[in-house]
Amino acid sequence: MAQLRFRALSEMMNREPKEVTFPSAKATDYYGELVFNKEAMSKYLSRDAYEAVKEAIDKGDAIDRKVADNVASGMKAWAMERGATHYTHWFQPLTDGTAEKHDGFIDYGDNGNMIEAFSGKLLAQQEPDASSFPSGGIRQTFEARGYTAWDVSSPAFIIGTTLCIPTVFISYTGEALDYKTPFLKALAAVDKAAVGVAQYFDKDVRKVHTNLGWEQEYFLIDQALYQARPDLMVTGRTLMGHSSAKDQQLDDHYFGSIPERVGKFMIELEIECHKLGIPVKTRHNEVAPNQFEVAPIFEEANLANDHNQLLMDVMKRVARHHKFEVILHEKPFAGINGSGKHNNWSLQTDKGVVLLAPGKNPKGNLQFLTFVVNAIAAVYKSQDLLRASILTASNSHRLGANEAPPAIISVFTGSQIADMLDNLAERITDQKMTPDEKTALKLGIGRIPEILLDNTDRNRTSPFAFTGNRFEFRAVGSMTNCAAPLTALSAAMAVQLEEFKKDVDALIESGVKKDEAIFQTIKKVILESNPIRFNGDGYSEKWKEEAAKRGLTNITSVPESLSRYLDKASKDILVETGVMSARELEARVEVEMEKFTKKIQIEARVLGDLAINHIVPTGIQYQTELIHNVQGMRDIFDEKEFKELAGARKELIKTISGHISAIKAKTADMIEARKKCNVIESETEKAYAYDKEVRPYLDEIRYHIDKLELIVDNEMWPLPKYRELLFFR
Ligand code: ADP
Ligand code: MG
Repeated sequence: MAQLRFRALSEMMNREPKEVTFPSAKATDYYGELVFNKEAMSKYLSRDAYEAVKEAIDKGDAIDRKVADNVASGMKAWAMERGATHYTHWFQPLTDGTAEKHDGFIDYGDNGNMIEAFSGKLLAQQEPDASSFPSGGIRQTFEARGYTAWDVSSPAFIIGTTLCIPTVFISYTGEALDYKTPFLKALAAVDKAAVGVAQYFDKDVRKVHTNLGWEQEYFLIDQALYQARPDLMVTGRTLMGHSSAKDQQLDDHYFGSIPERVGKFMIELEIECHKLGIPVKTRHNEVAPNQFEVAPIFEEANLANDHNQLLMDVMKRVARHHKFEVILHEKPFAGINGSGKHNNWSLQTDKGVVLLAPGKNPKGNLQFLTFVVNAIAAVYKSQDLLRASILTASNSHRLGANEAPPAIISVFTGSQIADMLDNLAERITDQKMTPDEKTALKLGIGRIPEILLDNTDRNRTSPFAFTGNRFEFRAVGSMTNCAAPLTALSAAMAVQLEEFKKDVDALIESGVKKDEAIFQTIKKVILESNPIRFNGDGYSEKWKEEAAKRGLTNITSVPESLSRYLDKASKDILVETGVMSARELEARVEVEMEKFTKKIQIEARVLGDLAINHIVPTGIQYQTELIHNVQGMRDIFDEKEFKELAGARKELIKTISGHISAIKAKTADMIEARKKCNVIESETEKAYAYDKEVRPYLDEIRYHIDKLELIVDNEMWPLPKYRELLFFR
């Protein structure tokens, strides 16, 4: 029975690092060679078309049909020279991952002969048969069709022999069926609101874009062992497995030297990323054994997110070249660190000023302060929405658990910034300030860059932390599409900035001078968002009590968290900004609920199957051996000796029986529970039921399996153990 496990182990032991050759000595020689970027466009497009595309990118507009024809023909020529034979609209449905449908360039020409064709119409729009993507009922009610439309702001690229065109995915009636559409709208909303506020400080600002630098954590598992673990293969995590005697307690993996096989994988991954214009820069070991991280230089958020989506795909492919499987699940192994995807987030003007970085002069620093306090307030007011955007079935193993940020959303600022905000709130008065008071305030603000320079405060336990020139949304899960959290955050920030501007403008209108109006409004924002600020240990029990006193929410149930998408506070943010219609939002929640249910359902099925077909027979086999042994002992020993010698073994037989019976009984109960839940019509109610009635069995059954693993003869155990999965070199 354990044959597969031992074959896999011996296969793994014979692995050699795979050699990787660099295409050229310098990354800049091949960087972006598979991307139809501005440089390629300038060579392959007419001057007019090139200018039109550039303008569309800058303004976020669509381009007209004639230009699209020219772009399509240039793109086709460029792609065919690089070996492409097919094209696809590449999009991000509400599943985990991206989707594509490949069409060949070949078509009938005017005389019925075969030609290579690719028109502006095909570039701009494609109709995938979309009926099998989740849509939360939107598509069924209207039309069983969705279509994809080119996102001009993200350049096309080539994977293998396919030209990939980044697109949005919408229903025939115009409702978003993907992550990208609302994200683009949220980015536009925060752009508009931030420009309004930034113009207090520089009236020439016309555009504010969002930056995103993601940090992708992942595990690597040897392919042979992975294939011997059906739970990992099907659900992305181990549903059983006793913890290894040694895992991360010695901290010897974090930032340690990278194992050679892994190093080769990382090099090839970097090469592939660089060809695709993904600016990956950092690679290192992470906290848990076999856990690693890759991070790029930050980019404009929509592009950065496309790159992250693409990266996750490229990683899987490259890993297989090295006989690895990439595990992106947030908690593949119980008891050790899970994987997150920190979202480093900032806003930047078209003048190149990062609005969350300290300025060069008092005015710049006041602007910095304005954006920082508004960001804190935005998080405060959208805590439930932000959580809803990241708390998935898989991330729920991480958030609120031991080795990860809590499910309470709070903001870490570092003590220096915190002191400064408290100090400002105290000193700013509602009366007209004297010139001395003003000077003193400005002097205080002038010290910001200095303060931040030696702000070495690093807090790893905060879900949302200020890190000098950006905020870092750390609670985001490794599998999550960054568009989900950044849509929520951007929309919340847009609403907050608009409110801020309204208040400042009202004060100015009533005769208060602009800088004083800004100061007074900053004070108000600081005071009202005070409860969200927390610089202490987010993992501690004390924080949970304290947070409750402050009125912060702490939700660990996925369905409950998702329901908060539909609260007034969330709708005020998403619907009021036009990022999603109420209908789209409801549909989205339904999709997420269904996704949650399905994930638990699949886990329950896999666990049931493994328990009954792999674990129980193994337990019985070992138990039978023990029984034979005890019977033999009875034959050769007298009664007294037998009792003495076989007593422990008889106890063991009983223990094994106990675990086997429990596994069988609980598996049967779990199946019954599932049957009851499956007939529930409403996706929301079903998700709640699965959470409450089915999910607990996963841990209960696992408990007995893990106990058996410790008892049963190692030679018989069918599944690779934690120590085997986690320690290879
Ligand atoms: P850490 O100390 O968190 O590991 P890194 O230096 O590795 O930080 O940076 C993490 C990510 O943050 C990188 O992608 C980096 O480019 C990005 N980043 C740096 N500055 C900003 C900024 N102002 N806005 C957004 N992202 C940023
Ligand atoms: Mg970081």
